[in-house]
Amino acid sequence: MNFNRAVIKVGSALVAPDANGCSGKYIRAISQFIAQCQQAGKEIIIVSSGSVAAGRTYISHGSPNPSIPTKQAMAAVGQMQMMANWQRFFDVPCSQLLITHGDLKDRQRYINIKNTLRILLENNVIPIVNENDTVATEELKVGDNDNLAALVALVSEADSLFILSDVDGVFEQDPRINPQAKLIPTIATIDESVYAMAGATNNHIATGGMKTKIQAAEKAVENGINTYILNGSRGDVFEQILQGKNPGTHFIAQQGATRARKHWLKHTLKSSGKLLLDAGAINALVKQGASLLPSGVLEVSGTFKVGDCIDIYDLENDIHIAKGISQYNARDLKRIKGHKSDEISTILGCCPSKVVMHRDDLVMIETTKN
Ligand code: GLU
Repeated sequence: MNFNRAVIKVGSALVAPDANGCSGKYIRAISQFIAQCQQAGKEIIIVSSGSVAAGRTYISHGSPNPSIPTKQAMAAVGQMQMMANWQRFFDVPCSQLLITHGDLKDRQRYINIKNTLRILLENNVIPIVNENDTVATEELKVGDNDNLAALVALVSEADSLFILSDVDGVFEQDPRINPQAKLIPTIATIDESVYAMAGATNNHIATGGMKTKIQAAEKAVENGINTYILNGSRGDVFEQILQGKNPGTHFIAQQGATRARKHWLKHTLKSSGKLLLDAGAINALVKQGASLLPSGVLEVSGTFKVGDCIDIYDLENDIHIAKGISQYNARDLKRIKGHKSDEISTILGCCPSKVVMHRDDLVMIETTKN
């Protein structure tokens, strides 16, 4: 198991076990594992469930399956408990990101989330994401953090997604019914038979069961992200991961997914603007694989919004060099072009991004250096 940037999804049963609020029972070992990953130079983003489970004891209910508003109130009080519980096991600061599936569908918000995550990681702060349960009522339940974790892995360009719960992985049969059932170590293709094997869990604390985990894995592997379903309640699981072993079920990332994204960027996305660059900026893009900075932009044309695709031209030779997703709209880019990144906040009053286009969002046209 080899990874550099991973999203670790931690289920409610690990955050708030025993129906008695948050505890360090499992989080202690998970945090230690995360700290060890960081010491080895890996970047980790946590997607944590557990706010509803953690808030349960503070809100009167009287039903094993409370109403959505009651769960939302539980989440509101439980979120505080959950964040405090995480922070007490880390020496580095934790940060809270509450987002909804809808936020990730909105282009501007998607970019904002992407930038926030990037900057938090650059500053060695641990991002802890949960669904913004107060406003999320999709499918008449509060949230689904398995699928949310897959989207967070996508937006953060993670190479791996670890889904931790209290089950060991996907079994050929339901292990509660047949204790001899075999764990499946690797799954190369996710089809109906995999969903059939997954069955459903009866754990009243967990929201999604195995089905949403497989859905999450399907989304992630399609985008080149290796996905693992692992038992986060067993300390030996983390030792095995650190030794490079796979202690659960590994859904193998589809090859060429990054190429597919670049292909999509190059051939499918329609450009709504054009930038002319100076020779220095062209050189940095082509030869050094750098991101595009405002200082290298000489001219801006077209009307585009944040997140739109725009063409990049070499001013001197009028050659179409690259295409990419802009972090700025045309109006703001006209104001910051030619300026150093440090000057952006003085000019615009804020600095949403130091780069005009991040390298990951850029594809070369005239060269083979993608
Ligand atoms: N957002 C919910 C919570 O924090 C959990 C959703 C899920 O587990 O999928 O309790």
